Amino acid sequence: MRIGAISLGCDKNRVDTEKMLSRLVAGGHTLVGTEDEADVIIVNTCAFTDDAKNEAIDEILSAVEHKRKHKKKKIIITGCLPQRYLDTLEKEFPQVDAFLGIADYDSICDTVDKITKGDKIYSCACGDGFYEGRVLTTPYHYAYLKIADGCNNHCTYCAIPSIRGKYRSEKIEDILAEAKGLEREGVSEIILVAQDVTRYGIDFDGKSHLVELVERLSEMDFDRIRLLYLEPEAITDEILDMIVANPKVVKYADVPLQHIDNDTLKRMGRRCDEATTRALIKKMRENGIVLRSSFICGFPGETEEAHNKLVEFISEGNIDYAGFFAYSREEGTAADRLHNHLDDEVKIERTNRLKDLQTAVINRRNSGLVGKTLKVLFDEIDYDKQMFVGRAEFQAPDIDNLVYFTSDKEVHVGEYYDVEIVGADGIDLVGKAL
Ligand code: SF4
Repeated sequence: MRIGAISLGCDKNRVDTEKMLSRLVAGGHTLVGTEDEADVIIVNTCAFTDDAKNEAIDEILSAVEHKRKHKKKKIIITGCLPQRYLDTLEKEFPQVDAFLGIADYDSICDTVDKITKGDKIYSCACGDGFYEGRVLTTPYHYAYLKIADGCNNHCTYCAIPSIRGKYRSEKIEDILAEAKGLEREGVSEIILVAQDVTRYGIDFDGKSHLVELVERLSEMDFDRIRLLYLEPEAITDEILDMIVANPKVVKYADVPLQHIDNDTLKRMGRRCDEATTRALIKKMRENGIVLRSSFICGFPGETEEAHNKLVEFISEGNIDYAGFFAYSREEGTAADRLHNHLDDEVKIERTNRLKDLQTAVINRRNSGLVGKTLKVLFDEIDYDKQMFVGRAEFQAPDIDNLVYFTSDKEVHVGEYYDVEIVGADGIDLVGKAL
């Protein structure tokens, strides 16, 4: 069968999609690039927030429209949305041939066989074992490596623990085998992801095994190892020392903070207060680590004073890159049952104000880089701008700004080049390969 897949949501979902595609190819199916060409359309969904759910519904409606025009087409919806709303989806979308949850990918080929014979499949059994194979959907020289799934932290605003379940780490040997496969494919940069990377291995024996895992991965032929989703309260001195000392680990960390006001942090169920956060950031910056973070704006009961504390914190330039999200009510979460929910206008106004402040922080940082030479990994070509596009080690793919550069000599995607920064274009850096 010709399979067309759409992957929504986070980088963990992207890895799930890549492993699903690998199973399908191993099962003799062909991957195609558009829904038009596809006999079977697969949408791997996210259900983290209202925006994510709306995006998933739009993609399902688009697939249904394709099927209305081409009756033989089949539709499979997988991931967080069915995991959370299977019963509702079954009723709302009878045109869909199969709904699978977040860990039903082992049965994907069997599901394709059965729906091709006219069966309907509805399963959120979560029975998957570990699967090593990947069909990369990123440029071939970098890849995400999902080291664990689920979460035990239960922040009050978050539905993930109820969707993805308890924290469960992949075995080290399995991760190393998967990484070996990526190394063979020529991957140069691996990006470790989970809901909470810091607690990797804690379900083995109550201790984090992140340092051990990264040391083993750095014995392989990767140039860059990047760590995303480091929960602040779980960044131990051992983990910090590893990031600083290991030459392959980029001096960059994504540390979701969500807020800085103690009262708001407490009602979010976060495990780090302002003083601890500031001490951690001071330590990380003193060690030259570039920081990314994410913040929730307009949390129930967030006073103007609490918001202004976050404004002040961001204005100080403590964080190099940040995502700001207007609080999204999620039924079934503790925060949804709180009082004093703010109006959408207030949430959006506060979110935009912080985004503007962060842009100023990035612009300040960029102007300090003019005249400097950066080691840039060449990712792709921007044909509209007629420029090469890459990332310095302090820039993660898909979420941070980029380096646009020119070169008098031939350059190759996936290779590193010394680029002298000559200016900026918006929040992106502009340079010339030396
Ligand atoms: S750490 Fe908190 S926000 Fe992140 S996935 Fe776990 S419960 Fe959700």
